Amino acid sequence: MNIHEYQAKVVLREFGVPVPRGIPALSVDEAVKAADELGGPVWVVKAQIHAGGRGKAGGVKVVRSVADVKREAERLLGATLVTHQTGPHGKEVHRLYIEEGSAIDREYYLSALVDRATSRIAFVASTEGGMDIEEVARTHPEKIISFSVDPATGFMAHHAQQVAHALGLSRDLAKQADGLLPRLYQAFLAKDMNLLEINPLVITKAGALICLDAKLGFDDSALYRHPDIAALRDPTEEDAKEIEASHYDLNYIALDGTIGCMVNGAGLAMATMDIIKLYGETPANFLDVGGGATTEKVTAAFKIITSDPNV
Ligand code: GDP
Ligand code: MN
Repeated sequence: MNIHEYQAKVVLREFGVPVPRGIPALSVDEAVKAADELGGPVWVVKAQIHAGGRGKAGGVKVVRSVADVKREAERLLGATLVTHQTGPHGKEVHRLYIEEGSAIDREYYLSALVDRATSRIAFVASTEGGMDIEEVARTHPEKIISFSVDPATGFMAHHAQQVAHALGLSRDLAKQADGLLPRLYQAFLAKDMNLLEINPLVITKAGALICLDAKLGFDDSALYRHPDIAALRDPTEEDAKEIEASHYDLNYIALDGTIGCMVNGAGLAMATMDIIKLYGETPANFLDVGGGATTEKVTAAFKIITSDPNV
């Protein structure tokens, strides 16, 4: 499950991670009120959708007056943002985040994820912040460092030093990284995340290391342990068919094609999708109803598959 940036920043703040002050807004009035409360003199109006690349698509605006906060809020609320992560149909903006503006000196990339090869939490860091990390990996792989953390020792001082060195941080900033990085690891572990991406991690002109953007993903199988996180779900960001399927414990993923699939077993479901592709068609979904599927589950699955107009 993914959550919005403003929610992610609340979670990180709980762990003592430095993030800018901000207030979410669901209407233009709320945006203006938030701007007044934050006080300025610089604000950032940020569209809240479950996709990155908002900056390039006009979804992140740095402004210098409350009137401009109002204007940007009017423009963004209800608008559809198309970024390289939303797909061609884009995503409609229902929520905004009004944040105090930061004076940026440098932008870096930092993330943590579950590395299946080592069964450990791995960190990825790069001097090329604010950019598409996949693009950096393609063109400048030497500018990316990564390492995994031994669960027996947890996050250690030498891990933070490794990041500080790779990013070329001065002594004072390295000390801040020493405080910040283990907190991110603690948050990742405590909340059963599967992704934590800070892009960009910035140094401000005042010399502070802060998380300017935050994307958090959580392990669905562990959500039952985290009612506080589960409560952050935004159903408008999710496929209605997938939400319905989750009520019946069905492994259903909506896709763009026209051929509905109902299969027992994930392997056979994957193979079925491959065969459909091989013969030039596209599957409308992935669905593994499971080995012990009941009449109720199969009935629900048929209803979900046939509710897709593309099928
Ligand atoms: P994304 O495009 O969806 O990843 O959204 P981000 O939150 O990462 O914002 C995109 C870019 O906007 C950042 O890389 C920054 O360059 C810029 N930006 C965001 N917040 C601020 C801010 O407070 N001050 C300044 N000067 N730029 C900002
Ligand atoms: Mn970003």
